[in-house]
Amino acid sequence: MERFYLDIAGEARPAADGQWFEATNPATGRPWALVARATREDALAAVEAAATAWGNWRLTSGAERARLLCRLGDLVEANRERLALAETLGNGKTITETRGQMAGLARYFHYYAGFADKLEGAVIPVEDVTAHVYAEWEPVGVCVFILPWNSPLPLCAQKLAPALATGNTVIIKPSEFTSTSIAVLMELIREAGFPPGVVNVVTGPGADIGEALISAPETALVAFTGGEAAGAAVAACAGRNLKPITLELGGKSPQLVFADADLESAAHGVIQGIFASTGQSCVAGSRLLVHHSLQQALIERIVALVAKLKIGDPLDAATRIGPIATAPQLDRVLRYFEIAAADGASLVTGGTRIAPGDGEQGYFVEPTIYADVRSDMRIAREEVFGPLLSVIEFGDEDEAVALANDSHFGLAAGIWSRDGARVHRVARKLQCGIVWANCYRTSSVAMPFGGFKRSGIGREGGSAMIRDYLQQKAVWINTRDGFTASLAS
Ligand code: NAD
Repeated sequence: MERFYLDIAGEARPAADGQWFEATNPATGRPWALVARATREDALAAVEAAATAWGNWRLTSGAERARLLCRLGDLVEANRERLALAETLGNGKTITETRGQMAGLARYFHYYAGFADKLEGAVIPVEDVTAHVYAEWEPVGVCVFILPWNSPLPLCAQKLAPALATGNTVIIKPSEFTSTSIAVLMELIREAGFPPGVVNVVTGPGADIGEALISAPETALVAFTGGEAAGAAVAACAGRNLKPITLELGGKSPQLVFADADLESAAHGVIQGIFASTGQSCVAGSRLLVHHSLQQALIERIVALVAKLKIGDPLDAATRIGPIATAPQLDRVLRYFEIAAADGASLVTGGTRIAPGDGEQGYFVEPTIYADVRSDMRIAREEVFGPLLSVIEFGDEDEAVALANDSHFGLAAGIWSRDGARVHRVARKLQCGIVWANCYRTSSVAMPFGGFKRSGIGREGGSAMIRDYLQQKAVWINTRDGFTASLAS
């Protein structure tokens, strides 16, 4: 089997104790690679490498960092297909979707390269006119990125590009389920000419090495994307160690379809929202809130369209629905099918594990829809992270908004309506970080991305995010001859 090593100070190395774990292809259920399982000692070696590299890296000019980032963006663009294949092999996302994601990956590096040489400070007019006071931006230092399995490369690039643009060094801790595509990115980082130790990778379960990475005195910041439980553990550790943190967590995002919606567009938007990535998307539109007058027609149209979706080998460009990414996640999705039935939801379509083609060991389930769902049922409240749509009907706009906001999550929402005033009114009332109107899951690196409530803390993407990776230093210079304000004068 192919082997994947830790990447510390520019060196590929096995774990200190020689342990490995398997990478499994979710489409076949078969292991295909061995990945080094980092120890606490390895984590601390990565921190030391990043801290050492920071000494020189923080002093590079913004122009030089921009040049390297542009070069990396160009290499990512030239290696799109390789990156897409690596991502699909790792998490089972269809090749069509990973090709789409990789088509946008270079943009992260090019976009944030544009900030690297424009980190201008300011001269501060203070009360004492003889003082010269200025404030400048400095990098925070060693950043730790903890990643999930559903979109390793885009979620890594979203953090990496602004961190490097601002002069920080980085340790990437990919999900133990999808460590391998990051190795391809690391090759490109090396080829672009980033000095050894500026970017390091440690692989293995977060519970083994997370605490060592976060609590090391040299670590300055933690950026986490993943689920609530691990997010809370990471935040608690960061809190104990007084480290700033951003959290991109889960969701139970509603799609509100009003009586005046374009039914065909809404049907496509709902399908895109919940069945793309086989539902394993933090912004999955997993709750369909639909006006009662439209409910039957919309469900019928969605079911007809879903029946045509090819399920199976994610490497086949015709496939629209690939496998669930991991064995534990497959168990979780199947458990929610049982929970839905026990809670009295009505199964409209799906609800079972399947074995398309020769994927009898693969982690496939049918796209699944439940109707007659109440907002207090578990499938309406808990993040399933799979292709399970809960349909809830509403009577008027106020009820739709109340249902949408009846969640401890607040990541995203979709509005389907041809009434422009309603779109603005409802968008303002929704308690979430992203609202899409008459579209869903469209995205840009330039857009702030993150959640309200338990969906996260902070934002990724956009220009404001640059500030997360910087700290301000104020410098006060006395321009008078002598200093007379001391106690002794
Ligand atoms: P997870 O929380 O199980 O794992 C995420 C990462 O945390 C992994 O790298 C894991 O090894 C690490 N980890 C686990 N325990 C840790 C600990 N104690 N200390 C340090 N690290 C630890 O999440 P997952 O199952 O990989 O991903 C699915 C979740 O991610 C879903 O809830 C989804 O909504 C969320 N997600 C959110 C966004 C977003 O941008 N908001 C994007 C993608 C995924």
